[in-house]
Amino acid sequence: MRVAVVGAGIAGLAAAWELQQTGGGVDVTVLESERRAGGVIVTEQVQGFIVEGGPDGFLAGEPELPALANELGIGDHFVSQRSRGTALWNGKELVPLDEGRAAALLGIDATKTEVAAGFRSFAGGMAEPVAALAQRLASALRFAQGVAGLVSEGKRWHVAITGGSAHDVDGVVLALPAYAAGRLLEAVGVAHGRALANVVYVPSITVSLAYRADQIEKTLDGAGFVVDPDVAGAQNAAPPQLRACTYASQKFPGRAPQGHVLLRAYLPPLDGDPAKVAHAQLTTILGIRGEPLWSRAFYWNRGLPRYRAHHAEHVAEARHRLTRLPPIAIAGAGYDGAGVSACVRSGKEAGREILSRLTR
Ligand SMILES: Cc1cc2nc3c(=O)[nH]c(=O)nc-3n(C[C@H](O)[C@H](O)[C@H](O)COP(=O)(O)OP(=O)(O)OC[C@H]3O[C@@H](n4cnc5c(N)ncnc54)[C@H](O)[C@@H]3O)c2cc1C
Repeated sequence: MRVAVVGAGIAGLAAAWELQQTGGGVDVTVLESERRAGGVIVTEQVQGFIVEGGPDGFLAGEPELPALANELGIGDHFVSQRSRGTALWNGKELVPLDEGRAAALLGIDATKTEVAAGFRSFAGGMAEPVAALAQRLASALRFAQGVAGLVSEGKRWHVAITGGSAHDVDGVVLALPAYAAGRLLEAVGVAHGRALANVVYVPSITVSLAYRADQIEKTLDGAGFVVDPDVAGAQNAAPPQLRACTYASQKFPGRAPQGHVLLRAYLPPLDGDPAKVAHAQLTTILGIRGEPLWSRAFYWNRGLPRYRAHHAEHVAEARHRLTRLPPIAIAGAGYDGAGVSACVRSGKEAGREILSRLTR
């Protein structure tokens, strides 16, 4: 039996891992359009700093990543959030903010109690489980293999790759952003594929900026701040474009060398250099002297999905339609939750779904 997992983000890697672990000899191939695994999970080491481009942690109460890490032998690599609390920048000063409201403003889908339990990450950053999975799945991973089309042929699938090659397989896991999976599904006649293709992914920019600790005048309290959306939308001369800032080196240990501070700013798409914009606005808010030692911007043209009304019903209906096709499942941020933990869960579930259909 051959199974193709399309997409090597965390959802696709988790699906492939589940298929490899419990599939009893199923031959798994992971087809990824880019030249690296991890999708929006990106960790870089820059001059002794650990820089996150996408996610920087997960809720401490979520069990999926600890379970996966144990399976991968990296269950002792976790770090816990060490400074708690988020402030609100009201345009004049930073004031304490209720944890639940902070989560809502940051678009984190969690209760106040869940947020109050804090976040966790990996000592080497969120790419640690990606690297461990990629290592275990090395013989299955195929990079620069963008899937351009799917055709059902009897009980099997013909998976066409951009450039002309193809794979014939018995099962498929589509672990792509919903807009990409939706298009492929629409083409094989899945009504509701269009509803998936229309899931909106919000664009954003994250900018990491490094400073010497003595450049920052204000005491950094807690894990960061959120800019009051009313300030951001105000009609005054220069509303801040900055949406939020994480004090990365304070939130988790090991993110910056001794005597240094790593900040991470969140911005909407903007004209000009986002690092300059972030530094200028952080200078006003935190009293920064001089220029950053370095900065690194990550552009997410389609970052986090925002589910619209009736999303869960569309997803359920699309999944129901998939049962009429040769074995195929969907997984990832576009369907059952956008957090890394939810993506691991949906990837593993998709792997099990394919196995159960192949053995039925
Ligand atoms: C800026 C940012 C910050 C975030 N912060 C957090 C956080 O702190 N905590 C948290 O829990 N979550 C966070 N998230 C959400 C979480 O990181 C993502 O939702 C999750 O990692 C998505 O995983 P995925 O596997 O579903 O999709 P992706 O990571 O998007 O992976 C999809 C993969 O499919 C590939 N692909 C696309 N088209 C094709 C094709 N045609 N053929 C083959 N391959 C294709 C892509 O190249 C990609 O590798 C954040 C997201 C962003 C963008």
